[in-house]
Amino acid sequence: MAAQTAVWRDQLTAAERAELGRGAGTLAHPRPDILVVGGGIVGVATAAACQQAGIGSVLLIESGRLGAGATGGAAGLLTPEIHEWSDPEPFVDLARTSLERWGELERSWPGGVGLVELDWLGLAPDPDDLAPHQRPAVEWLDSEQVANLVPGLARPMAGALIRAQARVNPLRSLVRLASVVPHISTGTPAVSVTIRAGRIVSVTTTAGQISPGAVVFATGMPPVLDGLPLHLPASQVKGHLLATEPTAMRLPGTVAPVATQLEDGRLLVGGTFDVGDETPKLRAEVIEGILEGLYAALPPLRGLRAAYEWFCFRPRHPDGRPVIDRVPGLDNAWLTSGHFRTGILMAPITAEILTGWIADGQPPREAAAWSAGRFADHRAGDH
Ligand SMILES: Cc1cc2nc3c(=O)[nH]c(=O)nc-3n(C[C@H](O)[C@H](O)[C@H](O)COP(=O)(O)OP(=O)(O)OC[C@H]3O[C@@H](n4cnc5c(N)ncnc54)[C@H](O)[C@@H]3O)c2cc1C
Repeated sequence: MAAQTAVWRDQLTAAERAELGRGAGTLAHPRPDILVVGGGIVGVATAAACQQAGIGSVLLIESGRLGAGATGGAAGLLTPEIHEWSDPEPFVDLARTSLERWGELERSWPGGVGLVELDWLGLAPDPDDLAPHQRPAVEWLDSEQVANLVPGLARPMAGALIRAQARVNPLRSLVRLASVVPHISTGTPAVSVTIRAGRIVSVTTTAGQISPGAVVFATGMPPVLDGLPLHLPASQVKGHLLATEPTAMRLPGTVAPVATQLEDGRLLVGGTFDVGDETPKLRAEVIEGILEGLYAALPPLRGLRAAYEWFCFRPRHPDGRPVIDRVPGLDNAWLTSGHFRTGILMAPITAEILTGWIADGQPPREAAAWSAGRFADHRAGDH
């Protein structure tokens, strides 16, 4: 029977797994210069970037274990170029820059951050399906070229090939980034804040009170804390994924929408958008549907079983794009939320924007498009 957890944790070393629960229930450093609330990839990347920038002491707190939210269940694909087909230019620019930052982290970080370069091949029965939106980064392959790369396809398919994209095991990258964050308290939810004269003066957690110089909320969904006057529209979009047993079949990186091959020969399949399903429960019929889709595209794989099956929830604002902003009405608090389907990709650039803003007191140029103010319903500064 398949494990009902993401494949990522089992790919970590014992030491890396232990790191996910660092500082459980204790407050190591109650007067940090910078407090990061939320231990997903975005919070950890931000805490690491603040630490690396030397802008003060850093404490990160997380309700559960590190990566317990969307991060631990994500597919981990870092594929900015495909967003040319679906997202506006500032978003694609941000995504491209963030992939560059992932590359820089991989080269500069002790032991790397676990980045794996891969090619993305999108299949289309008729090349005209994609052709009207031709992009410079895309190489167009006819069905013979595609068949050479992906033998066993059920029917001839043309393809769009984008080279030099990447993927990560999101938990491995998170652990590597966390290694430079000096103070981490897991099992420590923030429950309320006290605000005086437009500043957060204290954050109350289940393990005690913190008096931070600055606060970054990186809570996936917008933060909901007693005393915090912030109301951003957001919802969650559930997605199911599975990883198969190892197979001898070799795929060239990601073959969309079919599968991505992992190091040990397993295939990562799925990433459904189960709109309207808010139940925190694995649905066997959705997993079955993902497997059937795999077998239908690649009949030689029929019979290959799922070894891991899981779901997670993507945090989403109404326009599907993130907020990266100062908390409206507060001088010393920032937030980032709603990274929807690209939070792993966007983590380094989000961290860079927030770190630069905290350090300089001025919003970096790239921040303008991601303001909380674009949603009319935040009641800023109601305190
Ligand atoms: C099926 C699926 C596939 C995906 N595939 C990809 C992909 O291929 N590439 C990609 O880039 N993205 C992908 N994503 C999206 C990605 O998972 C998210 O955008 C990303 O993980 C968001 O990271 P985050 O750090 O903002 O949020 P989270 O990972 O949710 O982290 C937020 C953390 O804050 C903690 N928290 C919340 N409130 C508090 C509090 N009050 N006190 C303390 N801690 C708190 C939570 O426990 C949580 O751990 C996918 C998502 C899904 C569901």
